[in-house]
Amino acid sequence: MNIRAITQIIEGIKTTDGAGVNLTRIIGSSELNMLDPFLLLDEFGSDNPDDYIAGFPPHPHRGFETITYMLNGKWQHKDSAGNEGKLGEGSVQWMTAGRGIIHSEMPIQTDGLARGFQLWLNLPKEKKMIEPSYQDIDAGQIPIVKEMSGTVKVISGNYNDTMGPGESHTPVLILDIQMNENSELVIPVENGWNAFGFVYEGEVRSGKTISKGQLAVFEKDGNTHFETTEKPTGIYFVAGEPLNEPVARGGPFVMNTRGEILQAFTDYQNGVLDK
Ligand code: MN
Repeated sequence: MNIRAITQIIEGIKTTDGAGVNLTRIIGSSELNMLDPFLLLDEFGSDNPDDYIAGFPPHPHRGFETITYMLNGKWQHKDSAGNEGKLGEGSVQWMTAGRGIIHSEMPIQTDGLARGFQLWLNLPKEKKMIEPSYQDIDAGQIPIVKEMSGTVKVISGNYNDTMGPGESHTPVLILDIQMNENSELVIPVENGWNAFGFVYEGEVRSGKTISKGQLAVFEKDGNTHFETTEKPTGIYFVAGEPLNEPVARGGPFVMNTRGEILQAFTDYQNGVLDK
């Protein structure tokens, strides 16, 4: 069995987004612009409300999906189409922007810990202008596979014949892996898919050591092998089939050409982005 080596380890950059939410941009910065089909990964995590209370007031998106996974805290989203949903501990909100949506993502809590991830998954060219949609996935809907080495929550995709509830438009695998100390785990991944693991707790070895707060990018072929030492470890593990299509980015819009980005800004200014 071929085991993927790590090709890159990055820590992301501290930045601010929305109305002043402090977060770490791990994918989508100069360190790692994208990992096809993943356009962006943010980690937010603070028990200081000043870091998150301003939230993300109404803003537009077009051409991709945002997948928000909460480890701790309570948030809600609302959009211009009248959809509303709540995010709690261990839940997922999967927003397909398609041709356009204007939504807000705001904390409900006024204190305490808010922690989680937002991942941007690109849409293939032929699906960029589909109807927008939401999947609100409660923590209880996410299967938890018990292993000798810990637990694997299957958010989307197929992990050893357990299917996650998140429905994507191209094949992906999204897992929250919690490993016990001194244990080993192999994650089967399709050959040719891009894969990364972000260590949000503890420390894990996979040829090299990945420490808390680090993201490892893996080779494109083989399975992934993780080995812990004395620390229980949490890994946000994501893999997906690359689209291999041109990517044009313009703030909250991700299309295939510069012209399509300019059109998105025009549509937004004219109030027809989500019409
Ligand atoms: Mn958003």
